[in-house]
Amino acid sequence: MSKIHVMDNALANMIAAGEVVERPSSVIKELVENSIDAQSRQIGVFIYDAGRTKIVVEDDGVGMDRTDAVAAFKRHATSKILTTFDLFRIKTLGFRGEALPSIASVSKMTLVTCDGSNAGTSVVSEDDELTTHDAPMRQGTIVTVEELFYNTPARLKYLKSDFTENANSIETMCRLALAHPEIAMTLYIDDRKNFSTSGRGNLLETIKDIYGLDVAQKMIPFHYSNNDFSVDGFLGKPEMAKANRYFIITLLNGRNVYMPKVQSTIVDSYHDFIPPTRFPFVVLEMTIDPALVDVNVHPSKREVRFSKEGDLRLALLEKIPEALRGKNLVPDIVSVPKAPVIVKEEQLALEFDTYTPKPISPEVEVFSAPEVTVFKEPEVSFNEPAHAETQIQSLKALCQLHLTYLVAEDDQGGFYLIDQHAANERINYEKLQKLMNATLTVSEPLIPIVVHLNPSEMALLNNEKMALLESVGLKLDPFGINAYQVRQIPSWAKEYDEQAYVDDILHEALHGDKIDIPKLRTHVIATMSCKRSVKAHDRLSLSEMQYLLDTLLRCENPHSCPHGRPTIVHFTQYEIEKMFKRTGV
Ligand code: ADP
Ligand code: MG
Repeated sequence: MSKIHVMDNALANMIAAGEVVERPSSVIKELVENSIDAQSRQIGVFIYDAGRTKIVVEDDGVGMDRTDAVAAFKRHATSKILTTFDLFRIKTLGFRGEALPSIASVSKMTLVTCDGSNAGTSVVSEDDELTTHDAPMRQGTIVTVEELFYNTPARLKYLKSDFTENANSIETMCRLALAHPEIAMTLYIDDRKNFSTSGRGNLLETIKDIYGLDVAQKMIPFHYSNNDFSVDGFLGKPEMAKANRYFIITLLNGRNVYMPKVQSTIVDSYHDFIPPTRFPFVVLEMTIDPALVDVNVHPSKREVRFSKEGDLRLALLEKIPEALRGKNLVPDIVSVPKAPVIVKEEQLALEFDTYTPKPISPEVEVFSAPEVTVFKEPEVSFNEPAHAETQIQSLKALCQLHLTYLVAEDDQGGFYLIDQHAANERINYEKLQKLMNATLTVSEPLIPIVVHLNPSEMALLNNEKMALLESVGLKLDPFGINAYQVRQIPSWAKEYDEQAYVDDILHEALHGDKIDIPKLRTHVIATMSCKRSVKAHDRLSLSEMQYLLDTLLRCENPHSCPHGRPTIVHFTQYEIEKMFKRTGV
């Protein structure tokens, strides 16, 4: 007996929903994209209970007549493409004719719509049944999605916390709004306004509406075009660099797209301007002939292929630094990242009493190179004697090799190579561990610090996260639109870059995987000890080298860095003599 049969519609829709409707934010993306395609000038989105109970998207677009309103619920029903010819020249956001039937198959959906010339229609879809009524309605469409995933318990269970789901939805809305500054978009969450954009068609104004004036004032306009594509948007000044890639927003023909290669090109193009561990804040819109773009890669259309991606990469690598170079990038004094601690020769002499600086050596001329940050330890003492297995009692610094390794000698005739970064990391690690285990003393930051969050991060920052931040000494007060002012910071953070401390901890608290207090503390210790350490290629003065060595030798475990790599290698007198065949062995 033959076994193959064609699936019924309800089943096929649910299978398609599996790909297109992953979570509330995907419903919002699909419905708002439909509103955009319908030439709306205003779109309002209302989310209740993180989208579990209700999502409403209303627009003032072209609307539908009754026949279309019913047809829209059919699979593969679309007004957007007709032929395969159209498929290769897609100008609309939708074209697969899948979203409405897919969402309707996993929820209770009501579509109220009017095209302005006929009476309004309401179509209710529940359990694969459609009922149609007259509805008083101005031109436009209102789609209400209730009880999302009521019939797919696995999907429902897979949803994350309300905060995470809301954050996803907000992020989705921000990107849709940035991609369409000409449409006024408003987002309400549980009847509270999250953000709204003016719809006046100005991208910078939209950036201001979403991220605040302070951010918009630090954006540099960017424009580039050739025969195949053009790129327009704004480059954040280097001072706005972020700890993550979330703020590299790439839009293509009105669509927020995931283009990992373009993103990393943007990161690369900033490499002269920001440290390698930071990421720029960039909003760039690429306009490309639709014939050169394949959006039909994945049902969610988040990934696209573009045949001239190589050319785009080259153009960005050249033009972004060019645009940045011409501009005044000196940060405003209020948000200036605190200069790293520079240990001066005289200070060292005062603070480190067992070491007396040598008479001026050639390296001393460059000791104040601004990037040199050597850890000082004014507060915590390392007075305990070194462990028994630490045989090295003292080392004399001689010079720096490749600006990366210290060369030192002991009084046994051997010599040592010390990895300056690994050594400094070990010192900082042990110091921070002690500081974190002791009672935290906190104080106000030296320079006022204001942190700007994107709206999705604002939603993530609940009381629980605030408590988490307090466990590492951070207290924040609301400060204007999508921003917080830092009220309290651990006193020891003053020795470091306070702004970087705040950015990093906040990022980890908001985005870290299953983050709790012990995890956050470990993270603080690990990243701060790395970040605050001298790097390879940092030039050190002789006294800085000596200070590093002396402090290292008083660590509990001077031999390896916190990641387990060695800090010191030793060449014995015997090995040296053997190499030069002076021993006769
Ligand atoms: P697609 O967007 O891929 O065409 P959808 O299932 O999302 O498929 O929508 C089906 C059709 O319903 C669309 O092609 C459009 O004609 C109509 N439609 C959906 N939403 C709206 C809306 N907000 N305003 C006007 N027409 C809409
Ligand atoms: Mg659609």
